[in-house]
This record gives sequence, C-alpha cells and structure tokens, in this order.
Amino acid sequence: MFNPKRLSLARKRRRLTAKALAELAGLAIDTVLRLEKGAHSPDDMTIARLARALAYPHSFFTSSDPMDLDVDAVSFRSFSKLSVREREAAIAAGSLGLQLSAWVEERFALPQIKMLDLSYETNPEVAALNLRQFWGIGERPIGDMLGLLETHGVRVFSLSENTAAVNAFSFWRDNKPYIFLNNFKTAESSIFDTAHELGHLVMHKHGDPKGIRSSEREADAFASAFLMPERDVIARIPRPITVDLVLRAKQRWRVSAMAMAYRMKALRLLSDYQYKSICIELGRRGYRTAEPGGIERETSIVWRKMLSHLWSERTTKAEIARDLNMPLDELEGLIWNLAAVGSHPDRNDKPLLHAV
Ligand SMILES: [Zn+2]
Repeated sequence: MFNPKRLSLARKRRRLTAKALAELAGLAIDTVLRLEKGAHSPDDMTIARLARALAYPHSFFTSSDPMDLDVDAVSFRSFSKLSVREREAAIAAGSLGLQLSAWVEERFALPQIKMLDLSYETNPEVAALNLRQFWGIGERPIGDMLGLLETHGVRVFSLSENTAAVNAFSFWRDNKPYIFLNNFKTAESSIFDTAHELGHLVMHKHGDPKGIRSSEREADAFASAFLMPERDVIARIPRPITVDLVLRAKQRWRVSAMAMAYRMKALRLLSDYQYKSICIELGRRGYRTAEPGGIERETSIVWRKMLSHLWSERTTKAEIARDLNMPLDELEGLIWNLAAVGSHPDRNDKPLLHAV
C-alpha cells in the first residue's frame, strides 16, 4: 500500500516543492498533489518514478506511517529565521531520526534516562547548577558535552543541513529526550547549542514558559552557566583580562571566544566597555564568524559503539538503511557520517550499552 505521508516526508527532506518534484519525476503536478493528499493510489511505475526522483528506496513509500514530531513541542531556536523549506526539511529529519531511534531501541539497551524536570525553576544559573549536582559532575569544565548527554539517556542525532540557519532542536516524546544538532557550525557553537537544547529539555519540558519568561533567553543563560559555572570561572580567571586570556580560557571551557567573553561580562569580570573592546579585537582576529584553531567536533559515542558492535556482526550501514527503508545518505546524515569500523580497543571503558 502506498503511503501518502511518506511521499510528503521524502519531498520535504529533499527540499522540493510539489511542482519541482513533478518535473523531476515526469509527472503532472496535479498527480503529485493528489498523491500526497491520498486522493489517488499510484501504480508501481509511478512510485518508481517518484522513488528515482527523490533518491529514496521504493520500499520507503509503502511502509507504515512515519513517526511525526509534535511540531508545537519542538524547540526551534531562531525559528523565525527559517524558511518554510528549511523548517520542513528539519522536521522531516526529526521524523527519520525517531524511526532510527526506534530501530536502535529494539536492538540495544541505551543508557538510562537521568534527567531533571526543572520547569518550576526560573533562574537558569540555579537550574544549571542543580543539573550538574544531580549528575555529580561538580563545577569542572565538561570534556565531552555530547557524550555527557548520551550517558544520561538523551538521544542525540546530527542534522546535516547545509545551512547555519538551522541550529538545533530538541523535544520530549514518550518521556524520552531528543536533540538534533546541526553539523554545519563550528564545534564550539555546536557544544553551546547542545547545552542550549539541554536547557530547553530540563526547563521547558511542558512547553514555553508563560508571562515575562523568555525560553530562548533562559536556554542561552542555562547553556552559559552549565558550560562555564560561575565559581569555577571566577576562581580561574586572573585579572586584568586580555584578549589572549579570553582565548586561553575558551580552550579550557570549550566554548567560542565570544561566548567566553560574554560570560565574563555577565559575571562582572568585564565592564561593558572592556567587553566591547575585547569583542572588537576578537572580531578583528576572525572570531566573530569562526573559531581559528578550534577544537574537534564532538560526535556520538553511543553511535560509535553501536556501529562497531554491528560491524562485528558484519552488519553495515547500508544494511541498516535497507532495514529502515531509508536512503543511506539520510542515515549517515543523522549519525555524523561516522564510519562503521571495528572499535578502537578501549579496555577501561565502562560498557555504555549492550545488545538486547
Ligand atoms: Zn532555543
């Protein structure tokens, strides 16, 4: 049976209008529109044309309904900046991610979910400290933010959207936390986005706070406080603060130079005037749009382990994609294009997951 929702999903993933798809597939636009509405059942030949035009496997279009995201419950940063097409493509990636996640959970026991519901907390600094305390990580810098979230049960996927407009988004579904991260930004920005989405997950689990609270401001403040705890920053930063000191500090806390300087200002280590002149100098050295000499991108440890386990059973990524009726490029886009190879022997590693 042909599934109209799947046609719509694949078209949105490929960022095509119905008209563009019709042209690519050599079909009338009316046909495409009626197929997506479910008003018309296509023959095998038509499905084959659509599959070829979209570079999706034929079987994708005859599978069960996709797992939809509750779009209202999804946190989108700079939501207004997204074009409809970017937004739809990202939401469709989320839907594929859910499908992949369900596939994984049938095969592996993922780390237990250890999250706090801090939606009553209106102070992001306090919320960040509470979560750190709950996770028992003190106030030290975090060496691997993505890994930290994964070990506490957050399901993290990458978004290979070739645009910086889509930062990241997160949501709860069936009491499981999900984060999707754009791979296109600098590693430092991605870490900040991860912490920002973590802020949404713990502070805005039940949706946007009402009244004078701004969820975006709160998530940013949470990220800043979570990555750069006040006491640690104040204890470690000598005065006077120079640009070179900011650049050394950003290495320690694994954030962008601008985020580091902003935190110093927020903690009153820098006056408004000092902050401004440091920002100007950082901009001059190229730190407004990039992170010269930046750190390596964080990728999923859960997926690395899963892939190496599957590889040991001779299961390749192409086979996983086939099992999911998904194109390989979509699967790879969701898992940082990680390679399926044998694991680097890490004997002291605590087992993070096991096959079920
Ligand atoms: Zn946000």
